[in-house]
Parts: sequence; structure tokens; C-alpha cells
Amino acid sequence: MIFESLSDRLQATFKKLRGHGKLTEDDVNEAMREVRMALLEADVNFKVVKQFIKTVKERAIGQDILETLTPAQVVIKIVDEELTKLMGDTQSRINMSPKPPTIIMMVGLQGAGKTTSAGKLGLALKKQGKRPLLVAADIYRPAAITQLQVLGKQLDIPVFSMEQGTDAVTIAKNSIDYSQSHACDVVIIDTAGRLQIDEKLMKELCDIKSEVHPHEILLVVDAMTGQESVNVAQSFNDALGLDGVVMTKLDGDARGGAALSVKAVTGVPIKFIGLGEKLEPLEPFHPDRMASRILGMGDVLSLVEKAQATFDMEEAKMMEKKLRKDEFTLDDFLAQMQQVKKLGSLDNILGLIPGMGGLKKQLAGQDIDLDGKEIRQIEAIIKSMTPKERANINIINGSRRKRIAMGSGTRVQDVNKLLKQFGEMKKMMKKMKKMQKGKKGLPNLG
Ligand code: GDP
Repeated sequence: MIFESLSDRLQATFKKLRGHGKLTEDDVNEAMREVRMALLEADVNFKVVKQFIKTVKERAIGQDILETLTPAQVVIKIVDEELTKLMGDTQSRINMSPKPPTIIMMVGLQGAGKTTSAGKLGLALKKQGKRPLLVAADIYRPAAITQLQVLGKQLDIPVFSMEQGTDAVTIAKNSIDYSQSHACDVVIIDTAGRLQIDEKLMKELCDIKSEVHPHEILLVVDAMTGQESVNVAQSFNDALGLDGVVMTKLDGDARGGAALSVKAVTGVPIKFIGLGEKLEPLEPFHPDRMASRILGMGDVLSLVEKAQATFDMEEAKMMEKKLRKDEFTLDDFLAQMQQVKKLGSLDNILGLIPGMGGLKKQLAGQDIDLDGKEIRQIEAIIKSMTPKERANINIINGSRRKRIAMGSGTRVQDVNKLLKQFGEMKKMMKKMKKMQKGKKGLPNLG
């Protein structure tokens, strides 16, 4: 998980602080020393850390919070607010042009995830009802054009390209005309990247910029390169002027220092984050939610939004009805599990729920698997049953259990465990139903 070790260390520090009850200035100083170490170890820029600690200390000691009833809580609140501020306070959105098309230029070094992010951004915009056009302007890496075309096909988003040998500025310019004649309202230009920043690259990007006047220039950086990505952001911003940063591969970067430094160092906000190679809509970056996550307060808002976007509400209503009428079968159980699976790994989900970080660790030591293996096993078992068996588990006798275990490549114990769990779940549903009925019968005391 992103910020895992930082999150652990800060939470341990604040737990200690909470245990103190009344705080002295020394307690706060000690806690701030630990916060400083934790931030430095997470690879946050040292100047940013210095300023951060100074501000928090001033706020914590300067005001009379040490006299309040819950001083530790107030210190945590200050850290939360300052962490949020560090990352840009509020969510930064794309500058949309009032008159279409909105032109977005994607820039960055090779391998940062520019082409992937262009596709993911297209998908996010498409989900909002826009009609994006992807433009293949990376003319130096021949595979880049094909990569974008494949992406476009997968996402059902049109891709504009021109024959080999055409220069990037001409491609960009022509793509705008093309978007207008094809009713596309957002143009996403995937520009060339280099292994390192060089003058030729910057000149080409500046030429495209002065030709098409983009409404938004987004720099894609790889979080795993740590402070180097902050330096890259600084150079691109100096040469080109940036509107936002897309920070990719945060799924692979447990430290997260770059995400905490880039805004403070360059003044450019992170607008989106990339959390995997899979083609999902690019995720908007919410500084406040990220700060809460780091401090172990969870990110319930993101979870709710994710659930709303993922779950089929009609189906959910139908399921609820079935549960109430006691018609819930193993088929329905499987359908529900598949929906939950769409939300992502249990590992990710637990990270979004307040206080669940600890539980995640406990679970990790046991035989409960957090990678969805268990869900896959349950899926295999249910799929090895006949429709009749799924509808009525009471007919699943010993020999059927053996057959199902063989068919799903599991053990009879695994089949037994699933049937027992399902039976218990149904029993509990019945109990809840009774309780609800009982409630209705209570006299109104109000
Ligand atoms: P480009 O050279 O900047 O256009 O980079 P690509 O879009 O080709 O991406 C380089 C590699 O990074 C590919 O293997 C992508 O699948 C991978 N990648 C891109 N974004 C992410 C991300 O958010 N997380 C992870 N884990 N991989 C990513």
C-alpha cells in the first residue's frame, strides 16, 4: 500500500502521544522528531520536511492547545491539516475549455506511464460523457503509436495518427482540425518522451505548445523514482510551464515521498494518480483524503464512491429482496462476490477503512489470503456445482461433495467450509429478518 511505512510510524507516534493525556512542550518536540524521521525515511524532500515540522510545531506550541482537554487529538489534527496543505489542499481539476475542444498535452520521460495514463484519462473523461480523441505524437518510438492505437481500440476511443515521417507539431495541429470534424470535445496529445531531459525534447514540446495552445499540460512522473521525479517536475515546469502532475505507479511505491513533495517544491499540484497497469479510469488525487489515509483515518469517501461506481444498484436491490424472502442461492452469493471483487483487492479496500490498517496486518499473518485467492477458490467450487445444487444446497451429499472438490481442484474440506459458511449466512439472515419484524411490533413510545 502507498505510504505504508510512513503511515505505520506516524500512527505509532501519535498512539504514544495520546497515551500521555496532558502534553508538555517536550512531548510535542519528541513527537515532532519522530514525525521528521518518518517523513525523511519516506523520501520526502528534506527542505519540505524542515518547513513542515516548523509549521506544525509553531501551531502546536504557539497556541494554547497544550491546555486543551485532548491535546494529542489537536496535534494530530494540525498534522492532518498540514499534510493536506502540503499536497495542495483541495482536489485540482483539469482546466476545461468553455469552447470545445479542450486540448490536453501529456508530457514526461520515457517509461513514466505517459501513454497508459493518456488512455486512462481518456477513459475517465469518457465516463463523464465527454468524447475524447487520443493523438499519437510520439514519433521517435515507433511502438508508441501502435501502443496508443491498441489502447484506443480496447477503450473504444478514437486515435489520431499520421504517416511516418510527419513531425509532431504538424500531427498535433492536424489533430485539432480532425477533432472538430469528428465531434470530439477533448484532445489528449501523447507527446514523445526521452530517457533524460534534453533540449531537443523541450524545444519540440514548446513548439507544440505554441502551435496548439493547450488548456492543460500534464506531466506524467513515476513515483518509484522518488525525489528524481520531483526534479523532473521542476525542470519541465521551468521549461514548459505545467498545470498538473499525474503521478503513476503509486501502487508500487510504499514510501510515497514524491507525492508529498512535488507540490511543495514546484508549486504544481498532483491532479491524478496511477495505481496499476490495468486500464481503469485515471484516479483523481484528493490531498485531504490522502492525508487521512496516511494518518490511519481511512478514506471512506473514496470507498463509497468506488462502490457506487462499481455496484449495479438494480442488482443490489434485487439481491436484497431475495435475501428478505430467503430465496438467496449460491448463484446469488457468487454474483455478490464477483461484484465485491470488482472493487479491488481486499488489501486495498481495508486500507480505505479507518482503523483497518492494523487488522490488515493481523490478517496477513494468518491463513486468510488478501490477494483474492480465497475468492477465486470459492468461485471455482460454486462453478463446479450443477444449477440444482446451487439452488438447493441440501441435496449436496457426500458423493456430490467429492465430485465438486475434484471438479474445482479443491479439497472436500474446502467444499464443506463454503457450504457451512453459506448455511450460517442464511441462518443469520433469518435471525435479522425476525429482529426486524419484532421491531415493527414495538409500541411507539415517542
Ligand atoms: P510511457 O513511455 O511514458 O508512455 O510509458 P507507458 O505508458 O508505456 O508505461 C510504461 C510501463 O509502466 C508499462 O509497463 C505500464 O503498464 C506501466 N504503468 C503505467 N502506469 C502504471 C501505474 O500506475 N502502475 C503500475 N504498476 N504500472 C504502470
